[in-house]
Amino acid sequence: MASVIKEFARTFVILYKGFKVTFITMFKKPTTENYPAEPVHFQPRYRGIHVLQRDENGLEKCVACFLCAAACPAQCIYIEAAENTAENRFTDADRYAKVYNIDYSRCIFCGYCVEACPTDAITHGHGFELAPYDINAMVFRKEQLLEPWPPAKSSAPAKVPARA
Ligand code: SF4
Ligand code: SF4
Repeated sequence: MASVIKEFARTFVILYKGFKVTFITMFKKPTTENYPAEPVHFQPRYRGIHVLQRDENGLEKCVACFLCAAACPAQCIYIEAAENTAENRFTDADRYAKVYNIDYSRCIFCGYCVEACPTDAITHGHGFELAPYDINAMVFRKEQLLEPWPPAKSSAPAKVPARA
């Protein structure tokens, strides 16, 4: 009889240990996201797909100085600079980025480009959907990265730009 009680107690302890975490977790708020049915909640400093910013007049902030490309450890930023003209003015400076590509198949989201930029032209957004079937679609072009103008009225995070 004593051995039966001992065995029962041992089984109870084992079951208690096994189910303790399960029962505690059942009553906790879930930490998982119900994506894609519901929007994802980001931390404010989340480093997602970059956004090329504009100034208050809608002009592009990027002056094609190449500092971000030089700082990038993955060498995934490609820029072609061009001069503004009286008819075609894109920035408040002499030059603008005629081509600005980021290859997200190489980007490691380190944020060095954002830190290097002297005009705060490049920032991280909250876009994260980067899983195409064609790897070439991971090269995002300036038109996809540029902040929409006029700006969206909603305070919701910007939508992921369409892929080429
Ligand atoms: S986040 Fe890092 S790896 Fe990605 S483009 Fe910027 S510097 Fe390059
Ligand atoms: S994003 Fe900033 S650092 Fe990069 S080329 Fe434009 S102005 Fe220079």
